[in-house]
Amino acid sequence: SNIVAIVGRPNVGKSTLFNRLVQRRDAIVDSVSGVTRDRHYGKSDWNGKQFSLIDTGGWAIGSDDVFEEEIRKQVEIAIDEADSIIFVVNVEEGITPMDTEVANLLRKVKKPIFLAVNKVDNAMRDADAVEFYNLGLGEYYTISSINGSGTGELLDALAEKLEADIPVENELPRFAVVGRPNAGKSSFINALIGEDRNIVTDIAGTTRDSIDTKYNRFGFDFNLVDTAGIRKKSKVKEDLEFYTVMRAVRAIEYCDVAIVVIDATRGFEGQDENIFWLAEKNKKGVVVLINKWDLIEKETNTMRDFEAKIRKEIAPFTDVPILFISALTKQRIFKAIETAVEVFENRKKRIPTSKLNEAMLDFFKNNEPPAYKGKYVKIKFCTQLPTPTPQFVFFCNLPQYIKESYKRFTENKLRELFDFTGVPIVIYFRKK
Ligand code: GDP
Repeated sequence: SNIVAIVGRPNVGKSTLFNRLVQRRDAIVDSVSGVTRDRHYGKSDWNGKQFSLIDTGGWAIGSDDVFEEEIRKQVEIAIDEADSIIFVVNVEEGITPMDTEVANLLRKVKKPIFLAVNKVDNAMRDADAVEFYNLGLGEYYTISSINGSGTGELLDALAEKLEADIPVENELPRFAVVGRPNAGKSSFINALIGEDRNIVTDIAGTTRDSIDTKYNRFGFDFNLVDTAGIRKKSKVKEDLEFYTVMRAVRAIEYCDVAIVVIDATRGFEGQDENIFWLAEKNKKGVVVLINKWDLIEKETNTMRDFEAKIRKEIAPFTDVPILFISALTKQRIFKAIETAVEVFENRKKRIPTSKLNEAMLDFFKNNEPPAYKGKYVKIKFCTQLPTPTPQFVFFCNLPQYIKESYKRFTENKLRELFDFTGVPIVIYFRKK
């Protein structure tokens, strides 16, 4: 995985650049989810190299009025966690003291840094850009995030520095334990692997930070995807969302199933939702663990109400196991691993084409898509694609008339028939 962070002062055009760089791929996802919360993290590729893009500005509090301290912290986190950094400045304003400060931080870094001088939309501005040599970061790229000029050159340079995806050979389930600071991730891992730490091998991951560690516990073989941050006690003590996200991104991209740990005493909050959604967006399996359940005073419906509330937050992807555990008392930690293994199996599931057609065509016959302008949609054939995560194609005469609600309806039927609990599935309607 390649993680690219966009840093810079507020209002230099970071989010415009972000939107431009992830546009092609995210357009589809956005129209489906219809949510705005995903505008700070996206996936893209250029010249055959895949990367995740993170807009640091998106995670700031009240983006128009960010404290310098906040920006500095975000740049530091980006330096620690990202593989490459795009530093955006604004040609209209020239070099500001904050730009200089950010450049000072970036100059010491060994990672590829790309200085993007934004709002260069004419020759005059092009000449003005020269002053940015004074930041001491070497070559710069003049771009216009608004009209896209120059972004191709920037991406060419970036792609050259990105790693090619290395296919992972290991067939064992890879579980990433993710969650906000103090949710109990380390405690859960320690409870799980015990004192004796049944480690078989340490396999260096494909990236600098990630390590797959193979465990054999409770009769299961699995790898824990551990980022340096999960083991190391974090340097950054604050509950800074950007930090949590940066840590989670790499682990999630490298796993099969994300085990999302929530602190029961805090409930399911925005940060938890963002982590959950990172896993969904990457089409990874998900298990939600409500940890510290020992601290909750229980009445008859406490668990049921808690669960219902979370399912509401994670809609529409609600077909996810939610377990109430305690890393302290080890309550249900075995069940958590067992469930993660089940989700792993669900994600690998392949439905034979004949079986799929038999079940689904029958279902469609009795539940036809609504006619549109007097035209009838006929679904004729379906198949599962040979992808790492379940994807289905439904061939029909008029795919453009299939509404989102009907897709959802189809997805629910697939889940009911074949059990894809914990697994995001993707559905396409295509013309035969
Ligand atoms: P991390 O930052 O997510 O790795 O969280 P830690 O594992 O360091 O846990 C944060 C704090 O919560 C520590 O003080 C733990 O002792 C405590 N803690 C973790 N899990 C539990 C639990 O199940 N019950 C209780 N009562 N405390 C827990």
